[in-house]
Amino acid sequence: MHNISQRKRTLLKVIVLGDSGVGKTSLINQYVDKKFSQQYKATIGADFVTKEIQVDDKLVTLQIWDTAGQERFHSLGAAFYRGADCCVLVYDINIQKTFDTLNNWHDEFLKQADTNDPEAFPFVLIGNKVDVDGGNSRRVTEKKARNWCASRGNIPYYETSAKEGYNVEEAFFCVAKIAQENEHVQDIFFGGISESVSEAEQQQQPSRCAC
Ligand code: GDP
Ligand code: MG
Repeated sequence: MHNISQRKRTLLKVIVLGDSGVGKTSLINQYVDKKFSQQYKATIGADFVTKEIQVDDKLVTLQIWDTAGQERFHSLGAAFYRGADCCVLVYDINIQKTFDTLNNWHDEFLKQADTNDPEAFPFVLIGNKVDVDGGNSRRVTEKKARNWCASRGNIPYYETSAKEGYNVEEAFFCVAKIAQENEHVQDIFFGGISESVSEAEQQQQPSRCAC
């Protein structure tokens, strides 16, 4: 009965946090534009990019917020955090310190975002730059990272290379999926037809991330 263009569309706000230099901007560029740049440049003007994807039978718009380098000073404004549906934490598997600061980013997010249910809020952890030196310069084992995720309420974990495009799509698909489960339905309609309650209920997934 409903085709996808008649559905209520969902806008999901995703914010990406982590130390400067871990590859946040590169991951977003790789995911959205399939591009990678070796050149280091701090993101100009904190803003977002959008990408439409289909999750199950639903079209969702991911609104992915990147920082403009303010992460160096831990001074991201309230607007950055407000209304987030998922928080992606990124570290560099080759630099221990970027893993150690995950606790700060996690806590900072929960403090700033003022979510209804902090325990249930969806995070995804990304360990980036797995390509570097063929993995020989790795400082954080996958096991350590997975233990951290377990201790923080079973956060899904992905190891990626923004440079090679490895696992990036998969990581963001998981982001979309768990963000959708925590969605803030925006009032964007195509054709003004809203979903029935039973259909909305069907969208609820029991598990946090099946991907
Ligand atoms: P941000 O400060 O977290 O946004 O980090 P950037 O995306 O600006 O990346 C910092 C530097 O790391 C840049 O020189 C990127 O080219 C590089 N970089 C990012 N991701 C990867 C990756 O997966 N592998 C490699 N080898 N370099 C990466
Ligand atoms: Mg950046």
